[in-house]
Amino acid sequence: MTETMTSTSAAPPRLPVPFLDLGVQTAEVEAEVRERWDRILSTSGFVLGPEVERFESEFAAYSGARHAIGVGNGTDALEIGLRAAGIGAGDEVIVPANTFFATAEAVLRCGAGLVVADVDDDYLLDPLDVAARVTPRTRAVVAVHLYGQMAPVARLREVVGPDVLLVEDAAQSQGARRDGFRSGGTGDVAATSFYPGKNLGAFGDGGAVLTSSDDIDQRARRLRNHGGVNRYEHLEVGTNSRLDALQAAVLSVKLTRLDGWNAQRSAAAARYGALLADAFADVPELVVPRELPGAAHVWHLYVVQVPDRPAVSAALGAAGIGHGIHYPAPVHLLPATAHLGLRAGLAPRAEAHTDRILSLPMFPGITASQQEHVVRTLHSTVTGRTAPSTVIP
Ligand SMILES: *Cc1c(COP(=O)(O)O)cnc(C)c1O
Repeated sequence: MTETMTSTSAAPPRLPVPFLDLGVQTAEVEAEVRERWDRILSTSGFVLGPEVERFESEFAAYSGARHAIGVGNGTDALEIGLRAAGIGAGDEVIVPANTFFATAEAVLRCGAGLVVADVDDDYLLDPLDVAARVTPRTRAVVAVHLYGQMAPVARLREVVGPDVLLVEDAAQSQGARRDGFRSGGTGDVAATSFYPGKNLGAFGDGGAVLTSSDDIDQRARRLRNHGGVNRYEHLEVGTNSRLDALQAAVLSVKLTRLDGWNAQRSAAAARYGALLADAFADVPELVVPRELPGAAHVWHLYVVQVPDRPAVSAALGAAGIGHGIHYPAPVHLLPATAHLGLRAGLAPRAEAHTDRILSLPMFPGITASQQEHVVRTLHSTVTGRTAPSTVIP
């Protein structure tokens, strides 16, 4: 994953704290993956097949959905999931203003109308604002479990009523829970991504649709394979978006370790929380993320709000600290959605977050000294002074 790096020197910066380091995960699974890959190579079964079916059932069970359908990437998973649930032209779909563009892109690719709602103080879809945007044409609301924490699914279900589909964008939240609900196992349909940097990442692109509806399952299986399950039997216009056996093998091996890696992320988040609380006790402009009561956050990203972000970003860059902005613009203010005529001011909270959010390095295996370096650098930049040595040695 390429992330914003700012450096004033011409030489490539030394990077004591990468934004994301997949090395720990890869090293842990490498031997097992090679064994499975050898078996696949000996059979030449590269697309779908038993390795994919095995992963689909493992991942469905893990997520608490009855079916998982492996597809080419998370964006296709969203589009195929929406189409399989019957979303199309004339329908309206509500999405949060702050999400990766793919959430909105999938809605538009289905031919549906994009309706943007604001987020709450925890960056998650605000049920009250959603309620205000429901019309007779509303067919679905996409709960994005942003940064690894589940959106308020129970409240969203309540405010939209039984006739509107609850769709989960679970690309950043594999393993997350909230109030007894599980990421990917809660909505009428869910989509997830196995892009390498996600909590459960392949060695390339991959994604899955999740559902407990037999009808949506069947239709998603058709849509990912040219509109038919059997060769040359095309019942409708679908697409080619199938999961590779090689990627399914990686995912199947990695899935057995996902809870452990999520626990490492959670420990790293707790360490950031403690370090930041100490260093910024008297600096209310620095806002730290929280894990909501009743929620198990899986910390795909650790996002803080900082004053004067350009200066903070430059200082982190100079100190060799990888960081990112997720996302630099809300979906309704992107060039790609300009034709919809949505205005600034439509999602005031998301718009206010846009200029202040900053994602700090977060991955299984990040060390305490790396995190201390991050917080020390943040502190000296934000407050213009060096951290007291009693706080961070
Ligand atoms: C990554 C991501 C997607 C898209 O997944 P791809 O596999 O990259 O297509 C969709 N929504 C969110 C919230 C994401 O983070």
